[in-house]
Amino acid sequence: MHDTREHTNSYYAATRERIEFPVLRGEQRADIVIVGGGFTGVSAALYLQERGYKVALLEANRIGWGASGRNGGQLIDGFVNEDKIEKRFGSDAGEMAYRMGLESREIVVERVERYAIDCNLKFGFLDLALKQSDVDDFEAQVAQKRRKNYPHTVELIEKSRMPEFVGSDKYVGGLVNAGNGHLHPLNLCIGEVRAAAQQGAQVFEQSRVTKIRHGAKPRVDTSIGSIRADKIILAGNAYLGDAEPRLRSSIIPAGSYIIATEALPRELANELLPKDSACCDQRVALDYFRLSADNRLLFGGLCNYSGRKPKDISAVLQPKMISVFPQLEDVRIDYEWGGYIAISINRIPQFGRIEGNTYFAQGYSGHGVAPTHLAGKMLADVVCGDSEQFDVFARVRHLKLPGGRWFANPALALGMMYYRIREVL
Ligand SMILES: Cc1cc2nc3c(=O)[nH]c(=O)nc-3n(C[C@H](O)[C@H](O)[C@H](O)COP(=O)(O)OP(=O)(O)OC[C@H]3O[C@@H](n4cnc5c(N)ncnc54)[C@H](O)[C@@H]3O)c2cc1C
Repeated sequence: MHDTREHTNSYYAATRERIEFPVLRGEQRADIVIVGGGFTGVSAALYLQERGYKVALLEANRIGWGASGRNGGQLIDGFVNEDKIEKRFGSDAGEMAYRMGLESREIVVERVERYAIDCNLKFGFLDLALKQSDVDDFEAQVAQKRRKNYPHTVELIEKSRMPEFVGSDKYVGGLVNAGNGHLHPLNLCIGEVRAAAQQGAQVFEQSRVTKIRHGAKPRVDTSIGSIRADKIILAGNAYLGDAEPRLRSSIIPAGSYIIATEALPRELANELLPKDSACCDQRVALDYFRLSADNRLLFGGLCNYSGRKPKDISAVLQPKMISVFPQLEDVRIDYEWGGYIAISINRIPQFGRIEGNTYFAQGYSGHGVAPTHLAGKMLADVVCGDSEQFDVFARVRHLKLPGGRWFANPALALGMMYYRIREVL
């Protein structure tokens, strides 16, 4: 999943808006250079360009090539578990984290409208309960949201009403959230970079940063070009690799995988998801699914911490899909793909500074479509001198893995397995 410079063979890549950017050549100058063209980097680029900075965005492959162009497309508000933040930093920080969660989603919706981004944004999200304790959690969530005057409609769905939302008898209840939803993530990312480029951002693709020279005027190098800037933003997340080794020891790249069926007859698609909601269950290695604009079922799941891609993704995911929807027994799988999520051990996104003028954000732990957009704004803010939100998160300490080894770490895989077993018990 790491060495091709073109998009992976996903449903999203096959249906993306076509746009390409040049390779960086020679020496260039910018105010801010951003490394990584996923949601984090593109969001920061767009904010900074809107504020009049001269921005250069460098992507090793194609814009949206990483997790941002491969994910489940589930747009879910929330930035971090605000109860965790409240416990550590007090009620003001907890309240700030809650507001940030709402803001993350608003940014996406507002950008789609403002820049007329054609990414099939639809509202309606269904959390699925596999057991009674999930339903109990949903009840607590609804009560908490009511206390906080949550701005979107949320509704608990009893088992008897589940067929109105999902054509599967696996679930014992659900929680509908009318504010969350789903979209075509690669087209969102491409639409945003198009907006940044139209406002003057210099975007380079197939331009992997191989070296960062820190200093008063830092410089990033690719194999055939370089950019000098006042400040650097690192937005490579699980794919940053060796460009800044200090960042990689605090995240674990976990693989997540998706299959897309052939386009289904409309009646069958309606039977599976009558309200066209995005769905996910509550396990650590969760199943998540939704319909595409052309009525395919996109079914994701399977989490692996070894860094090794499964030999046959469909062989693992198709039986899981059929166990949820036996109606799909004979349906063809047209696409299968996967990508890396960057997991923080404490599940709190990581923000910080290196050498004074290099900033980073990473480690969204599997929930990144909305949070990366706010992260981009926080990065743009801190670069512009406003560090209020950034500093709350830059203060959080994150565990580092000894030796900075992420992949093929059996002890780690075992540790993560422990959480899964605990969940089953
Ligand atoms: C299969 C899958 C399903 C998911 N489903 C969901 C979901 O439904 N909802 C949700 O909220 N979140 C989901 N996520 C998580 C979400 O996609 C990520 O949190 C988010 O996209 C991270 O964005 P990013 O920009 O930080 O990183 P990425 O999108 O991974 O982008 C990093 C980019 O940096 C580039 N890069 C790295 N190093 C360099 C370098 N040295 N030079 C130049 N470029 C470099 C990479 O090529 C890459 O394009 C999912 C993730 C995966 C993998």
